[in-house]
Amino acid sequence: MTANETKATTNGPLSQMSLNDHEQVVFCNDNTTGLKAIIAIHNTTLGPALGGTRMWSYASEGEALHDVLRLSRGMSYKAAVAGLNLGGGKAVIIGDARKEKTEALMRRFGKFVNSLGGKYITAEDVGISTRDMEQVFMETKHVTGIPEALGGSGDPSPVTAYGVYMGMKASAKERWGNDSLAGKKIVVQGVGHVGSYLVDHLVKEEAKVWINDIYEDRIQAIKTKHASVEVVAGDALYDLDMDIYAPCALGGTLNDESLNRLKCSIICGAANNQLANESVHGEIVMKKGLIYAPDYVVNAGGLINVYSEVAGFGRDYANLQAENIYNTTLRIFELAKSGNIPTYLAANRLAEERIQSIAHIRKSR
Ligand code: NAD
Repeated sequence: MTANETKATTNGPLSQMSLNDHEQVVFCNDNTTGLKAIIAIHNTTLGPALGGTRMWSYASEGEALHDVLRLSRGMSYKAAVAGLNLGGGKAVIIGDARKEKTEALMRRFGKFVNSLGGKYITAEDVGISTRDMEQVFMETKHVTGIPEALGGSGDPSPVTAYGVYMGMKASAKERWGNDSLAGKKIVVQGVGHVGSYLVDHLVKEEAKVWINDIYEDRIQAIKTKHASVEVVAGDALYDLDMDIYAPCALGGTLNDESLNRLKCSIICGAANNQLANESVHGEIVMKKGLIYAPDYVVNAGGLINVYSEVAGFGRDYANLQAENIYNTTLRIFELAKSGNIPTYLAANRLAEERIQSIAHIRKSR
């Protein structure tokens, strides 16, 4: 049996790593604290692999590995398209974040992160709080997104929202030849951290803003601040005539059902993994003639913010980089048109090209 045949017939961790060319995966175990974690480093061509730590009750170790490999690759692409000198990484801790998290477990995890000597930099993700990251920070300096009081860059949401706003203006320019959002009917789904800052920008530009959230207090907070904003409840949102749909809650909202109902010209929002199935729904969006600003391109402000912390730059730098999402989004639309491919694919290709071209420079003397 040749090496390639072995690769094709096994489904172990190394075969899975080779599918998308992951560099390194670290399995972390500690019986005393109960820590079971996986750190995946996808690619460090552009710089250290940065990505959050997620704590989740995975049904199996295989599911955890699949998730960490998928998420770390996504981080490489997001950093590459945003023009940052960062690679892609991610970590998962297997367990129930509400029941199994202890200070000792988080600090033991921090020791594992530290053992990688800065090749992987961690941050908060689902199931992990700022307090947990402070405990990780006790054992390693390779942590980012820590509170401002500890010298970090603090809440990334304002920068993320600004980047989404820039991506939306670029999408308007692509669709209507003019990037003004004044008078455009825009529905923001999810008015949490990012969505609420996005609404501020849109109201300031005199867009006709509609909001949607599952929590009444979130809706009321926005209504108190901006009386002109209207509300659409539940999934009636998908039947509303609108110019722009801005998903800022959960992923997967671009699926068979919603795409049958959506009546908009542009889709641009902060939520991660908006396309339920990237290739299937990316293609449908293109065929329907909708302008889709790829999620990881327009929501890169959060990563830009933590990068500015790692690189020792301030909020002004982060905002300047987030502003550039406007140009990057237009470039992706151009690539998609010239290649007659969906925009998500154009973004992936742009990321791969940047990684390859910089790898070439790194090799040359
Ligand atoms: P958040 O939890 O503060 O806000 C999410 C909001 O969506 C909440 O108000 C919640 O009630 C609402 N929501 C949840 N389910 C909903 C549903 N089915 N319908 C309508 N509303 C619903 O989160 P956030 O930090 O604002 O992030 C929003 C999205 O953007 C997430 O997908 C996140 O992964 C992504 N994102 C955030 C950042 C950041 O800087 N915070 C960066 C990149 C990507």
